Amino acid sequence: MTRSEELFEEAQKYIPGGVNSPVRAFRSIGTTPRFIRSGSGSHMVDEDGIDYVDFIGSWGPMILGHDYENIRDSVMNAVGRGLSFGATTEIEVKMAKLICEMVPSIEMVRMVNSGTEAVMSAIRAARGFTGRDKIVKFNGCYHGHSDGLLVKAGSGVMTAGVPDSSGVPAGCTSDTLTADYNDLDSVEALFRGNPGQIAAVIVEPVGANMGVVLPQPEFLPGLRKICTENGALLIFDEVITGFRLQADGAQGYYGVTPDLTTFGKIIGAGMPVGAYGGRREIMQVVAPLGSVYQAGTLSGNPVAMNAGYTQLTLMRDHPEWYVALNQKADCFFEAIRSLLDKYGYPWQLNHIGSLGCLFFTDQPVTDYASAKTSDTKAFADYCNFMLNHGVYLAPAQFEAMFISMAHSEEDLNWYLEMAEEYFRR
Ligand SMILES: *Cc1c(COP(=O)(O)O)cnc(C)c1O
Repeated sequence: MTRSEELFEEAQKYIPGGVNSPVRAFRSIGTTPRFIRSGSGSHMVDEDGIDYVDFIGSWGPMILGHDYENIRDSVMNAVGRGLSFGATTEIEVKMAKLICEMVPSIEMVRMVNSGTEAVMSAIRAARGFTGRDKIVKFNGCYHGHSDGLLVKAGSGVMTAGVPDSSGVPAGCTSDTLTADYNDLDSVEALFRGNPGQIAAVIVEPVGANMGVVLPQPEFLPGLRKICTENGALLIFDEVITGFRLQADGAQGYYGVTPDLTTFGKIIGAGMPVGAYGGRREIMQVVAPLGSVYQAGTLSGNPVAMNAGYTQLTLMRDHPEWYVALNQKADCFFEAIRSLLDKYGYPWQLNHIGSLGCLFFTDQPVTDYASAKTSDTKAFADYCNFMLNHGVYLAPAQFEAMFISMAHSEEDLNWYLEMAEEYFRR
Protein backbone atom coordinates (compact mmCIF):
# COMPACT_ATOMS: atom_id res chain seq x y z
CA MET A 1 0.00 0.00 0.00
CA THR A 2 1.26 3.47 -0.79
CA ARG A 3 1.36 6.21 1.82
CA SER A 4 -1.37 8.03 -0.12
CA GLU A 5 -3.56 4.93 0.05
CA GLU A 6 -2.94 4.59 3.78
CA LEU A 7 -3.79 8.23 4.36
CA PHE A 8 -6.90 7.96 2.25
CA GLU A 9 -8.14 5.00 4.29
CA GLU A 10 -7.61 6.99 7.46
CA ALA A 11 -9.18 10.11 5.95
CA GLN A 12 -12.35 8.26 5.02
CA LYS A 13 -12.96 7.44 8.67
CA TYR A 14 -13.15 11.08 9.67
CA ILE A 15 -13.97 13.15 6.59
CA PRO A 16 -16.92 12.46 4.26
CA GLY A 17 -15.39 10.59 1.34
CA GLY A 18 -11.96 11.38 2.78
CA VAL A 19 -11.89 14.81 1.16
CA ASN A 20 -12.89 18.40 1.84
CA SER A 21 -14.11 18.98 -1.72
CA PRO A 22 -15.66 16.15 -3.76
CA VAL A 23 -13.56 16.26 -6.95
CA ARG A 24 -10.42 15.57 -4.92
CA ALA A 25 -11.65 12.03 -4.27
CA PHE A 26 -10.70 10.96 -7.84
CA ARG A 27 -13.92 8.97 -8.06
CA SER A 28 -14.71 9.94 -11.60
CA ILE A 29 -11.47 8.36 -12.80
CA GLY A 30 -11.98 5.30 -10.65
CA THR A 31 -8.90 5.64 -8.47
CA THR A 32 -7.86 7.18 -5.16
CA PRO A 33 -6.19 10.51 -4.51
CA ARG A 34 -2.51 11.23 -4.21
CA PHE A 35 -1.82 13.14 -1.01
CA ILE A 36 0.38 16.12 -1.74
CA ARG A 37 3.26 16.88 0.55
CA SER A 38 4.71 19.96 -1.13
CA GLY A 39 4.81 22.04 -4.26
CA SER A 40 7.43 24.16 -5.93
CA GLY A 41 6.99 26.03 -9.21
CA SER A 42 5.11 23.77 -11.62
CA HIS A 43 5.75 20.59 -9.66
CA MET A 44 4.10 18.80 -6.75
CA VAL A 45 5.48 15.92 -4.71
CA ASP A 46 3.15 13.42 -3.06
CA GLU A 47 3.51 11.60 0.26
CA ASP A 48 5.23 8.71 -1.52
CA GLY A 49 7.86 11.06 -2.89
CA ILE A 50 6.51 10.89 -6.45
CA ASP A 51 6.98 14.06 -8.48
CA TYR A 52 4.30 15.41 -10.81
CA VAL A 53 4.06 18.23 -13.29
CA ASP A 54 0.99 20.02 -11.92
CA PHE A 55 -1.65 21.01 -14.46
CA ILE A 56 -4.31 22.17 -12.01
CA GLY A 57 -2.44 24.77 -9.98
CA SER A 58 -4.92 24.46 -7.09
CA TRP A 59 -7.68 24.85 -9.74
CA GLY A 60 -6.38 28.20 -10.86
CA PRO A 61 -4.86 30.31 -8.10
CA MET A 62 -1.23 29.36 -8.72
CA ILE A 63 -0.68 31.37 -11.90
CA LEU A 64 2.90 32.00 -10.76
CA GLY A 65 3.47 28.43 -9.60
CA HIS A 66 3.86 27.03 -6.10
CA ASP A 67 5.91 28.67 -3.38
CA TYR A 68 6.66 31.84 -5.34
CA GLU A 69 9.27 33.74 -3.37
CA ASN A 70 7.71 37.23 -3.18
CA ILE A 71 4.36 35.80 -2.21
CA ARG A 72 5.87 33.58 0.45
CA ASP A 73 7.79 36.57 1.87
CA SER A 74 4.74 38.81 2.02
CA VAL A 75 2.75 36.06 3.75
CA MET A 76 5.55 35.41 6.26
CA ASN A 77 5.82 39.11 7.03
CA ALA A 78 2.08 39.38 7.57
CA VAL A 79 2.07 36.28 9.78
CA GLY A 80 4.64 37.94 11.99
CA ARG A 81 2.25 40.81 12.66
CA GLY A 82 -0.73 38.67 13.74
CA LEU A 83 -3.15 36.42 11.89
CA SER A 84 -6.47 38.21 12.20
CA PHE A 85 -7.91 41.18 14.02
CA GLY A 86 -11.54 41.48 12.95
CA ALA A 87 -10.69 45.14 12.43
CA THR A 88 -9.72 47.10 9.33
CA THR A 89 -6.15 47.02 8.06
CA GLU A 90 -4.28 49.07 5.46
CA ILE A 91 -3.69 46.12 3.14
CA GLU A 92 -7.47 45.87 2.55
CA VAL A 93 -7.50 49.44 1.21
CA LYS A 94 -4.51 48.74 -1.01
CA MET A 95 -6.12 45.54 -2.30
CA ALA A 96 -9.45 47.22 -3.09
CA LYS A 97 -7.73 50.12 -4.86
CA LEU A 98 -5.58 47.73 -6.87
CA ILE A 99 -8.59 45.73 -8.06
CA CYS A 100 -10.43 48.93 -9.04
CA GLU A 101 -7.37 50.09 -10.97
CA MET A 102 -6.84 46.79 -12.74
CA VAL A 103 -10.48 46.19 -13.70
CA PRO A 104 -12.12 49.40 -14.98
CA SER A 105 -15.72 48.16 -14.55
CA ILE A 106 -15.12 47.94 -10.80
CA GLU A 107 -15.53 51.13 -8.78
CA MET A 108 -16.10 49.48 -5.40
CA VAL A 109 -15.27 46.02 -4.19
CA ARG A 110 -15.98 43.87 -1.14
CA MET A 111 -13.64 41.05 -0.07
CA VAL A 112 -15.03 37.66 1.00
CA ASN A 113 -13.50 34.24 1.67
CA SER A 114 -14.35 32.13 -1.39
CA GLY A 115 -15.76 32.24 -4.89
CA THR A 116 -18.99 30.76 -3.58
CA GLU A 117 -19.42 33.63 -1.17
CA ALA A 118 -18.55 36.18 -3.83
CA VAL A 119 -21.25 34.93 -6.19
CA MET A 120 -23.86 34.50 -3.48
CA SER A 121 -23.24 38.07 -2.32
CA ALA A 122 -23.16 39.57 -5.81
CA ILE A 123 -26.55 38.04 -6.51
CA ARG A 124 -27.95 39.41 -3.28
CA ALA A 125 -26.64 42.85 -4.24
CA ALA A 126 -28.17 42.54 -7.71
CA ARG A 127 -31.52 41.61 -6.22
CA GLY A 128 -31.33 44.41 -3.67
CA PHE A 129 -30.41 46.93 -6.35
CA THR A 130 -33.06 45.94 -8.88
CA GLY A 131 -35.81 44.95 -6.44
CA ARG A 132 -36.30 41.78 -8.53
CA ASP A 133 -35.94 38.15 -7.47
CA LYS A 134 -35.20 35.99 -10.51
CA ILE A 135 -31.80 35.22 -11.93
CA VAL A 136 -30.65 33.52 -15.10
CA LYS A 137 -27.74 31.09 -15.11
CA PHE A 138 -26.41 28.85 -17.84
CA ASN A 139 -26.47 25.09 -17.96
CA GLY A 140 -22.99 23.82 -17.27
CA CYS A 141 -21.75 27.00 -15.59
CA TYR A 142 -20.63 26.57 -11.99
CA HIS A 143 -20.95 29.42 -9.53
CA GLY A 144 -20.10 27.75 -6.24
CA HIS A 145 -22.23 25.64 -3.96
CA SER A 146 -24.79 28.09 -2.58
CA ASP A 147 -28.39 26.82 -2.64
CA GLY A 148 -29.80 29.01 -5.37
CA LEU A 149 -27.09 28.19 -7.88
CA LEU A 150 -27.05 24.41 -7.59
CA VAL A 151 -29.36 23.98 -10.50
CA LYS A 152 -28.78 21.17 -12.92
CA ALA A 153 -28.73 21.50 -16.63
CA GLY A 154 -31.37 20.00 -18.84
CA SER A 155 -34.38 21.34 -17.05
CA GLY A 156 -35.37 23.20 -20.19
CA VAL A 157 -35.00 26.86 -20.91
CA MET A 158 -38.52 27.86 -20.01
CA THR A 159 -38.74 26.01 -16.72
CA ALA A 160 -37.61 27.19 -13.33
CA GLY A 161 -34.67 25.28 -11.98
CA VAL A 162 -34.85 22.11 -9.94
CA PRO A 163 -32.20 21.58 -7.26
CA ASP A 164 -29.10 19.67 -8.29
CA SER A 165 -28.34 18.51 -4.75
CA SER A 166 -30.44 17.01 -2.02
CA GLY A 167 -30.79 19.31 0.97
CA VAL A 168 -31.68 22.24 -1.27
CA PRO A 169 -35.36 23.13 -0.85
CA ALA A 170 -37.16 23.63 -4.16
CA GLY A 171 -38.06 27.10 -2.91
CA CYS A 172 -34.39 28.08 -2.96
CA THR A 173 -34.04 27.43 -6.68
CA SER A 174 -37.47 28.44 -7.90
CA ASP A 175 -36.10 31.88 -8.83
CA THR A 176 -33.17 30.40 -10.75
CA LEU A 177 -33.89 30.20 -14.47
CA THR A 178 -31.55 28.30 -16.75
CA ALA A 179 -30.52 29.02 -20.31
CA ASP A 180 -28.07 27.36 -22.69
CA TYR A 181 -24.54 28.65 -23.12
CA ASN A 182 -23.97 30.37 -26.46
CA ASP A 183 -27.72 30.48 -27.05
CA LEU A 184 -29.05 34.03 -26.89
CA ASP A 185 -32.52 32.93 -27.98
CA SER A 186 -32.83 30.86 -24.82
CA VAL A 187 -32.04 33.96 -22.77
CA GLU A 188 -34.46 36.16 -24.67
CA ALA A 189 -37.20 33.59 -24.15
CA LEU A 190 -36.66 33.77 -20.39
CA PHE A 191 -36.92 37.56 -20.41
CA ARG A 192 -40.13 37.35 -22.47
CA GLY A 193 -41.57 34.79 -20.07
CA ASN A 194 -40.63 36.73 -16.92
CA PRO A 195 -41.07 40.41 -17.80
CA GLY A 196 -39.69 42.84 -15.22
CA GLN A 197 -38.76 40.01 -12.86
CA ILE A 198 -35.14 39.13 -13.74
CA ALA A 199 -32.57 40.81 -11.51
CA ALA A 200 -29.46 39.50 -13.20
CA VAL A 201 -27.88 37.17 -15.72
CA ILE A 202 -24.80 35.45 -14.36
CA VAL A 203 -22.30 33.85 -16.70
CA GLU A 204 -18.77 32.51 -16.80
CA PRO A 205 -17.44 34.65 -19.67
CA VAL A 206 -15.40 31.61 -20.63
CA GLY A 207 -17.08 28.42 -19.49
CA ALA A 208 -14.45 26.62 -17.45
CA ASN A 209 -16.51 24.20 -15.37
CA MET A 210 -17.91 22.02 -18.16
CA GLY A 211 -14.45 21.59 -19.49
CA VAL A 212 -13.48 24.76 -21.36
CA VAL A 213 -16.20 26.22 -23.57
CA LEU A 214 -15.52 29.46 -25.41
CA PRO A 215 -18.16 32.14 -25.86
CA GLN A 216 -19.08 32.57 -29.50
CA PRO A 217 -18.38 36.11 -30.76
CA GLU A 218 -21.95 37.35 -30.43
CA PHE A 219 -22.69 35.71 -27.08
CA LEU A 220 -21.27 38.11 -24.46
CA PRO A 221 -22.14 41.33 -26.37
CA GLY A 222 -25.62 39.85 -26.87
CA LEU A 223 -26.03 39.24 -23.15
CA ARG A 224 -24.91 42.80 -22.45
CA LYS A 225 -27.54 44.14 -24.83
CA ILE A 226 -30.37 41.95 -23.50
CA CYS A 227 -29.60 42.88 -19.88
CA THR A 228 -29.43 46.60 -20.64
CA GLU A 229 -32.69 46.51 -22.59
CA ASN A 230 -34.45 44.74 -19.75
CA GLY A 231 -33.05 46.64 -16.77
CA ALA A 232 -31.26 43.51 -15.51
CA LEU A 233 -27.67 43.38 -14.32
CA LEU A 234 -25.00 41.38 -16.10
CA ILE A 235 -22.73 39.51 -13.68
CA PHE A 236 -19.48 38.04 -14.95
CA ASP A 237 -18.28 35.23 -12.74
CA GLU A 238 -14.55 35.67 -13.27
CA VAL A 239 -13.51 33.38 -10.45
CA ILE A 240 -11.41 31.46 -13.00
CA THR A 241 -10.89 33.97 -15.81
CA GLY A 242 -10.15 36.99 -13.59
CA PHE A 243 -6.49 38.03 -13.72
CA ARG A 244 -5.84 34.92 -15.85
CA LEU A 245 -6.60 35.76 -19.46
CA GLN A 246 -5.11 39.20 -18.95
CA ALA A 247 -4.86 41.78 -16.16
CA ASP A 248 -8.46 42.93 -16.62
CA GLY A 249 -9.82 39.44 -17.12
CA ALA A 250 -12.26 38.11 -19.69
CA GLN A 251 -14.17 41.39 -19.69
CA GLY A 252 -11.06 43.14 -20.96
CA TYR A 253 -10.29 40.36 -23.40
CA TYR A 254 -13.76 40.39 -24.96
CA GLY A 255 -14.41 44.11 -24.46
CA VAL A 256 -17.75 43.55 -22.74
CA THR A 257 -18.47 45.44 -19.53
CA PRO A 258 -20.49 43.68 -16.84
CA ASP A 259 -22.32 45.47 -14.03
CA LEU A 260 -20.91 43.21 -11.34
CA THR A 261 -17.93 40.85 -11.30
CA THR A 262 -16.97 38.03 -8.97
CA PHE A 263 -13.44 36.87 -8.29
CA GLY A 264 -11.76 34.04 -6.43
CA LYS A 265 -8.84 31.70 -7.02
CA ILE A 266 -6.01 33.90 -8.43
CA ILE A 267 -7.09 36.84 -6.26
CA GLY A 268 -5.96 34.92 -3.15
CA ALA A 269 -2.77 33.38 -4.61
CA GLY A 270 -3.68 30.13 -2.83
CA MET A 271 -5.24 31.65 0.28
CA PRO A 272 -9.05 31.49 0.77
CA VAL A 273 -10.19 34.74 -0.85
CA GLY A 274 -13.04 35.92 -3.02
CA ALA A 275 -14.34 39.34 -4.01
CA TYR A 276 -17.29 40.97 -5.72
CA GLY A 277 -17.44 44.43 -7.13
CA GLY A 278 -18.86 46.69 -9.77
CA ARG A 279 -20.43 50.06 -10.39
CA ARG A 280 -20.51 52.33 -7.37
CA GLU A 281 -24.27 52.89 -7.46
CA ILE A 282 -24.81 49.13 -7.27
CA MET A 283 -22.17 48.40 -4.61
CA GLN A 284 -23.64 51.18 -2.48
CA VAL A 285 -26.60 48.93 -1.67
CA VAL A 286 -24.25 46.77 0.43
CA ALA A 287 -24.27 47.26 4.24
CA PRO A 288 -23.35 49.40 6.08
CA LEU A 289 -24.06 51.88 3.24
CA GLY A 290 -27.22 50.17 2.09
CA SER A 291 -29.77 47.57 3.01
CA VAL A 292 -28.17 44.42 1.53
CA TYR A 293 -26.56 42.61 4.45
CA GLN A 294 -23.27 40.82 3.86
CA ALA A 295 -20.49 40.26 6.39
CA GLY A 296 -17.54 38.03 7.29
CA THR A 297 -15.46 37.47 10.44
CA LEU A 298 -12.33 36.67 8.42
CA SER A 299 -13.12 38.73 5.31
CA GLY A 300 -10.15 40.81 4.21
CA ASN A 301 -7.88 38.70 6.40
CA PRO A 302 -4.48 40.44 6.41
CA VAL A 303 -2.42 37.33 5.63
CA ALA A 304 -4.66 36.40 2.72
CA MET A 305 -4.74 40.01 1.48
CA ASN A 306 -0.96 40.17 1.46
CA ALA A 307 -0.73 36.99 -0.59
CA GLY A 308 -3.26 38.16 -3.13
CA TYR A 309 -1.99 41.73 -3.27
CA THR A 310 1.53 40.57 -4.00
CA GLN A 311 0.40 38.22 -6.77
CA LEU A 312 -1.87 40.80 -8.42
CA THR A 313 0.75 43.53 -8.18
CA LEU A 314 3.29 41.28 -9.87
CA MET A 315 0.84 40.49 -12.67
CA ARG A 316 -0.09 44.15 -13.12
CA ASP A 317 3.54 45.22 -13.24
CA HIS A 318 4.49 42.60 -15.82
CA PRO A 319 2.01 42.78 -18.71
CA GLU A 320 4.61 40.89 -20.75
CA TRP A 321 4.08 37.88 -18.50
CA TYR A 322 0.54 37.48 -19.80
CA VAL A 323 1.80 37.67 -23.36
CA ALA A 324 4.46 35.05 -22.67
CA LEU A 325 2.10 32.80 -20.72
CA ASN A 326 -0.61 32.89 -23.35
CA GLN A 327 1.87 32.27 -26.18
CA LYS A 328 3.45 29.37 -24.34
CA ALA A 329 0.05 27.86 -23.64
CA ASP A 330 -1.12 28.36 -27.24
CA CYS A 331 1.91 26.51 -28.57
CA PHE A 332 1.41 23.74 -26.05
CA PHE A 333 -2.29 23.22 -26.79
CA GLU A 334 -1.67 23.35 -30.52
CA ALA A 335 1.03 20.69 -30.06
CA ILE A 336 -1.58 18.47 -28.39
CA ARG A 337 -3.86 19.08 -31.35
CA SER A 338 -1.07 18.05 -33.73
CA LEU A 339 -0.63 14.82 -31.81
CA LEU A 340 -4.34 14.08 -32.09
CA ASP A 341 -4.15 14.68 -35.85
CA LYS A 342 -1.00 12.60 -36.20
CA TYR A 343 -2.58 9.58 -34.54
CA GLY A 344 -6.00 10.11 -36.07
CA TYR A 345 -8.04 10.87 -32.97
CA PRO A 346 -11.15 12.97 -33.56
CA TRP A 347 -11.13 14.46 -30.07
CA GLN A 348 -11.88 18.10 -29.41
CA LEU A 349 -9.43 20.51 -27.87
CA ASN A 350 -10.85 23.81 -26.61
CA HIS A 351 -8.41 26.38 -25.34
CA ILE A 352 -7.92 30.06 -24.65
CA GLY A 353 -4.90 31.64 -23.02
CA SER A 354 -3.63 29.38 -20.27
CA LEU A 355 -6.90 27.40 -20.02
CA GLY A 356 -7.59 24.31 -22.06
CA CYS A 357 -9.54 21.08 -22.13
CA LEU A 358 -9.36 17.89 -24.16
CA PHE A 359 -12.82 16.41 -24.73
CA PHE A 360 -13.10 12.80 -25.76
CA THR A 361 -15.76 13.41 -28.37
CA ASP A 362 -15.80 14.03 -32.11
CA GLN A 363 -18.41 16.79 -31.80
CA PRO A 364 -17.46 20.45 -31.41
CA VAL A 365 -18.09 21.44 -27.78
CA THR A 366 -20.01 24.70 -27.51
CA ASP A 367 -22.33 24.13 -24.56
CA TYR A 368 -23.26 21.72 -21.80
CA ALA A 369 -25.10 19.26 -24.04
CA SER A 370 -22.17 18.88 -26.42
CA ALA A 371 -19.67 18.71 -23.53
CA LYS A 372 -21.65 15.79 -22.16
CA THR A 373 -21.06 13.80 -25.34
CA SER A 374 -17.49 13.28 -24.13
CA ASP A 375 -16.58 9.67 -23.37
CA THR A 376 -15.73 9.99 -19.68
CA LYS A 377 -14.40 6.41 -19.55
CA ALA A 378 -11.86 7.26 -22.25
CA PHE A 379 -10.96 10.38 -20.30
CA ALA A 380 -10.50 8.36 -17.09
CA ASP A 381 -8.17 5.93 -18.86
CA TYR A 382 -6.09 8.79 -20.26
CA CYS A 383 -6.02 10.66 -16.96
CA ASN A 384 -4.86 7.58 -15.05
CA PHE A 385 -2.14 6.90 -17.60
CA MET A 386 -0.89 10.47 -17.30
CA LEU A 387 -1.04 10.38 -13.49
CA ASN A 388 1.02 7.22 -13.46
CA HIS A 389 3.56 8.96 -15.68
CA GLY A 390 4.05 12.05 -13.55
CA VAL A 391 1.42 14.31 -15.11
CA TYR A 392 -1.18 15.57 -12.63
CA LEU A 393 -4.34 16.52 -14.51
CA ALA A 394 -7.72 17.48 -13.09
CA PRO A 395 -9.17 14.08 -12.16
CA ALA A 396 -12.47 14.75 -13.95
CA GLN A 397 -13.41 15.40 -17.57
CA PHE A 398 -15.37 18.60 -17.07
CA GLU A 399 -12.55 20.68 -15.65
CA ALA A 400 -9.95 22.97 -17.14
CA MET A 401 -6.25 22.41 -17.47
CA PHE A 402 -4.25 25.33 -16.07
CA ILE A 403 -0.86 26.44 -17.41
CA SER A 404 1.18 28.68 -15.13
CA MET A 405 4.15 31.00 -15.52
CA ALA A 406 6.22 28.30 -13.82
CA HIS A 407 5.74 25.64 -16.50
CA SER A 408 9.02 25.20 -18.35
CA GLU A 409 9.40 23.92 -21.89
CA GLU A 410 10.66 20.73 -20.30
CA ASP A 411 7.47 20.38 -18.23
CA LEU A 412 5.23 20.87 -21.24
CA ASN A 413 7.32 18.52 -23.36
CA TRP A 414 6.98 15.90 -20.68
CA TYR A 415 3.21 16.11 -21.03
CA LEU A 416 3.49 15.90 -24.82
CA GLU A 417 5.81 12.91 -24.70
CA MET A 418 3.58 11.02 -22.31
CA ALA A 419 0.48 11.93 -24.33
CA GLU A 420 2.19 10.66 -27.47
CA GLU A 421 3.06 7.44 -25.71
CA TYR A 422 -0.60 7.08 -24.82
CA PHE A 423 -1.94 7.95 -28.28
CA ARG A 424 0.54 5.58 -29.97
CA ARG A 425 -0.66 2.51 -28.08
C1 LIG B 1 -14.32 27.78 -8.35
C2 LIG B 1 -15.46 28.58 -8.85
C3 LIG B 1 -16.42 29.13 -7.98
C4 LIG B 1 -16.45 28.79 -6.52
O1 LIG B 1 -15.33 29.25 -5.85
P1 LIG B 1 -14.94 28.56 -4.45
O2 LIG B 1 -13.78 29.37 -3.98
O3 LIG B 1 -14.62 27.14 -4.76
O4 LIG B 1 -16.11 28.69 -3.54
C5 LIG B 1 -17.37 29.99 -8.51
N1 LIG B 1 -17.39 30.29 -9.80
C6 LIG B 1 -16.50 29.77 -10.67
C7 LIG B 1 -16.56 30.18 -12.10
C8 LIG B 1 -15.52 28.89 -10.23
O5 LIG B 1 -14.67 28.35 -11.11
